Amino acid sequence: MEQYIVSARKYRPTTFDSVVGQKALTATLKNAIVTGRLAHAYLFCGSRGVGKTSCARIFAKTINCMARTPQGEACNECDSCRQFNENRSMNIIELDAASHNGVDDMRALTEQVMVPPTVGKYRVFIIDEVHMLTAAAFNAFLKTLEEPPAHAIFILATTEKHKIIPTILSRCQIYDFNRIGVADMVAHLAHVARTEGMTAEPAALNVIARKADGAMRDALSIFDQVAASTEGNITYAATIENLNILDQSYYNRLVDAFVAQDVAQALLIYKEVRDKGFDSQFFINGLALYLRDLMAAGNSATIGLVEASDDVRAALAERAAGLHPTFLYRAMDLCNDADFNFRQASNKQFLIELTLIKLCQLLSPSSIDSGDDEGRLKPLPAAAAPLKPEGAAPAASAPQPHVAPAAPSSSVAAPAAETPKPRFAPGGFSLRGSMSRVREEHAAPAPAVAARRARPFGEDELHKAWKDFIASHSSEPLLTGSMETALPAAVDGRYVVTLPSSVLADQINSRKGEVLAALRTALDNDDVDFDVVVSAGELAPQYWPEKRVLDYMLERHPLMGEMMQKLKMRLR
Ligand SMILES: [Zn+2]
Repeated sequence: MEQYIVSARKYRPTTFDSVVGQKALTATLKNAIVTGRLAHAYLFCGSRGVGKTSCARIFAKTINCMARTPQGEACNECDSCRQFNENRSMNIIELDAASHNGVDDMRALTEQVMVPPTVGKYRVFIIDEVHMLTAAAFNAFLKTLEEPPAHAIFILATTEKHKIIPTILSRCQIYDFNRIGVADMVAHLAHVARTEGMTAEPAALNVIARKADGAMRDALSIFDQVAASTEGNITYAATIENLNILDQSYYNRLVDAFVAQDVAQALLIYKEVRDKGFDSQFFINGLALYLRDLMAAGNSATIGLVEASDDVRAALAERAAGLHPTFLYRAMDLCNDADFNFRQASNKQFLIELTLIKLCQLLSPSSIDSGDDEGRLKPLPAAAAPLKPEGAAPAASAPQPHVAPAAPSSSVAAPAAETPKPRFAPGGFSLRGSMSRVREEHAAPAPAVAARRARPFGEDELHKAWKDFIASHSSEPLLTGSMETALPAAVDGRYVVTLPSSVLADQINSRKGEVLAALRTALDNDDVDFDVVVSAGELAPQYWPEKRVLDYMLERHPLMGEMMQKLKMRLR
């Protein structure tokens, strides 16, 4: 057994290319290394187990490697790489801010930062869960972050980006790690299984990947657990048994029962599920998710929304092909209602049974119509009529939709007018209908509006109003910190605020109405407006590292380069 419990550590990535599911991000990091554009501080954001620490370690190893590959990867053979791979490099210092978040911890770290490397060029300081630092610890660290020695690079990692204050955000290059997709995880688990000489059914790996919910580390440890208990023969049946997961085939059979309007069968399947020890709310939510996946898989435009490997997606798409989207919407809605009412229901089993009965009736032409078609539904027309808002159809005269039991074959090919109309409108449609109605009612009286303010103003005045807003909102550091990062500048007849990260942009955008109202009042002009844009991967000049500033100046003043060469000057 022991031999199987190794995956998470054994398959920890050692190069950027072996990091699973973060291709774009690792390509950017490699490119930064190849072109020598290193920042002094990075912020890695993302949920647990997505590769933040792994990437930080690979980054530290790669920038210190003495024989990097042309692709920007570490050679894994030089002295420095070996020290890293054997966990004895002095050039990587990791601090877990969750357990070391005090001022003394930070002072100790700050002293470490001053010590230059003995081997290699850089010392990399990884501060994990950086949002956990106390305010005092953070202040002790801020000065070091602002003026680090040339050999120091900080990689701050966090699972809670929204807790990072703008002072830090604006000093870091920010990298957002994705949750790892199921397809990427399945591919990696299949690779591990092959390498370990195990057999693994794709459906089993799919279950493991879904259970891991975006975290590769979790996927590998679940994989280990299943591999150990199945002695390396990872079947779907053994996996769901081991992880106590409800077999999807129950849901598949239930959908058959709904289509066949077979209430008895649906209730019996539910009993089987309860007998296996599964909770009813878990069951109904699982059914809702299954229906949701069917709905998404039924349309080539949305099949990518199904978190699954390609073969599982294909199977769902095939299943969905025979189902009317309207049926799926309505079924999801019923499951959602059941989940919503579950806590309050005094008889929970009854609630679920009632829901299943309603699900069986969704495709029934009407509840009193019976007998003449053996309870079987005719194939649904492939392309449904576009859904209409509830209010749009002439209410009283519209006939109840029937699936035309009398003339089954001709109804399929019938002209559009005879296509069964959906009996309901999903929430979004009816809501939109009622909202536009409300708007019309409000528009009707047309109250006298105060004259539009249109006093001309200059950019200086705008900047002053901007700064006044900052000054009068000092109790909101997230907003004002973002606003301090850049002033509105005129670009093509519009004012544009250019920020180095989307986090900062979000801070302003989420309060834009308020900022605009203040600016308009201050400038006495209702046309004041601005756009917030994120500079694509580029930091604003005030956040450039020294090397970048120097390159920028050399590019513009070639003589400066000659002079520096003659005087043998270099950056620190
Ligand atoms: Zn190396």
